[in-house]
Amino acid sequence: MAEDANVGVSIRSASKLYGDLTVLNAITLDIEPGEFVSLLGPSGSGKTTLLGILGGFVLPSSGSVWVGGRDITYMPPHKRDIGIVFQSYALFPHMTVSENVAFPLRARRRPKSSWPKKVRDALEMVELGGYEDRRISQLSGGQRQRVALARAMVFEPKLILMDEPLSALDKQLRESMQIELRQLHKRLGATIVYVTHDQREALTMSDRVAILNKGRLVQIGAPDQLYDHPEDSFVASFIGEAT
Ligand code: ADP
Repeated sequence: MAEDANVGVSIRSASKLYGDLTVLNAITLDIEPGEFVSLLGPSGSGKTTLLGILGGFVLPSSGSVWVGGRDITYMPPHKRDIGIVFQSYALFPHMTVSENVAFPLRARRRPKSSWPKKVRDALEMVELGGYEDRRISQLSGGQRQRVALARAMVFEPKLILMDEPLSALDKQLRESMQIELRQLHKRLGATIVYVTHDQREALTMSDRVAILNKGRLVQIGAPDQLYDHPEDSFVASFIGEAT
């Protein structure tokens, strides 16, 4: 991935209402280019909705979203230069690994002659070189999750969104994938926004953690800052559960 491939993200006073229910309340958040930021909070705090606003699946009721200095608030998802990894992988089981990884290149109408090299490079990045012709159904859970990662980065997105990507894995695999993801982030240099409800996961992986509660951003900071200087009792007790 090119050196200049990473971008900053700016969410400005984004709110989301469903009827009378305020799911996100005036969220303002700036993410530096190349930063790994987790959105951490209990179930129902608005993490997935905020990620949806970044990905374009959810339109904010008010406020705006900027990526790389561009207002993308109303840009459709397929036009955004954003890779996405979900918990459920969403791979096509009947297709091979390389067909799955090439899918975003097809969807973006990238020249077909460029696909094999890009697919190979992405698979090597997640240490699955040589798995091109395997079927998804022949792979382990950890290997499938790595294919999903390769697919998210094959078109060299400037920003990658991840929604609980490791939560379907068992504890041991989850912990080794956390380390792999961290290393991958260093190699890629891409900006990553990572949703999790797992305090320990957020604190070990992220440059900064944004803590949400009931649709509000209650604090954002580096892991040790959150440990040492929680701004309110919610943050103190929520972070305290990780220890
Ligand atoms: P989290 O990811 O932190 O668990 P979500 O963003 O999924 O939280 O949800 C935040 C709140 O928004 C929840 O109360 C949820 O029920 C509500 N919500 C999410 N999507 C919708 C929707 N399409 N219609 C109505 N309420 C929704």
